[in-house]
Amino acid sequence: MPELPEVQALAEILDRRVRGRRIVAFTVPSIAALKTYDPPVSALAGREVTGVQRHGKFLDIEASDAAAGGAPLHLIAHLSRAGWVRWRERASDTRLVQRGPLAARLRFDDGAALDITEMGTEKRLALHVVRDPSDVAGVGRLGVDALDEGLDLERLRELLRARPGTLKAALSDQSVIAGVGNAYSDEILHAARLSPFARGDRLDDAALARLLAALRETLGSALEQARALDIDGLKEGKRSGMRVHGRTGEPCPVCGDTVREVSLASRSFQYCPGCQTGGRVYADRRMSRLMR
Ligand SMILES: [Zn+2]
Repeated sequence: MPELPEVQALAEILDRRVRGRRIVAFTVPSIAALKTYDPPVSALAGREVTGVQRHGKFLDIEASDAAAGGAPLHLIAHLSRAGWVRWRERASDTRLVQRGPLAARLRFDDGAALDITEMGTEKRLALHVVRDPSDVAGVGRLGVDALDEGLDLERLRELLRARPGTLKAALSDQSVIAGVGNAYSDEILHAARLSPFARGDRLDDAALARLLAALRETLGSALEQARALDIDGLKEGKRSGMRVHGRTGEPCPVCGDTVREVSLASRSFQYCPGCQTGGRVYADRRMSRLMR
């Protein structure tokens, strides 16, 4: 699943590519992916893209209708696990049917198109056409952005105190810190030498400082790497920079201990016992109760 660095880099690429282009049509063959009906998707036609931004892990394509003097509309996409985009310099304007990974197409008046795709059978891509980004419940609930300059030690302490539970759960909770998901929370905790099972509301100052530094450093360098990639490269590029996430059974690049995995019903995550838990290896079953 793309997280802050990938979605931010994607938003920047798309902003350069589609800002100023006029939309001819937004077609959504994947009915299940479209979560809103008012305004209708046809309301995007004739509008000009005025910017592409990120909110947490959501992509926001803003389209204005200056001639009509109306307020902008926003096409908000949550790419979820298997969603991504594909750029087409020339796209056919034939009627689209849902076939393969194509979920939606944003067509421009110069013949180019932005396809929104979703691989696999588990369909979780979510598209919204709204008047205000915060009309999307997931956007309205977002906490402070992980790269917000206002996220200092005091703010981080307050956020974690207000959200009792494990550090792993707090860090990947979008309503606490926006933009960090399962993969980067593994990486941040590893860099901070903190256990994913530690209580976030009970960290001492030294641990909080390590966590904040690791958050900034991990996301900052991932964003820097992501900015060097193109749309296709971004989709494939995330895992290569990971030190523990997705690396169960491999040696930790810092201490050489074996990276361990915790499997929950819907996801799994990784940590290094040597770096993070004082050598302790946790049994999965106990963890699944603790990680709620
Ligand atoms: Zn280690």
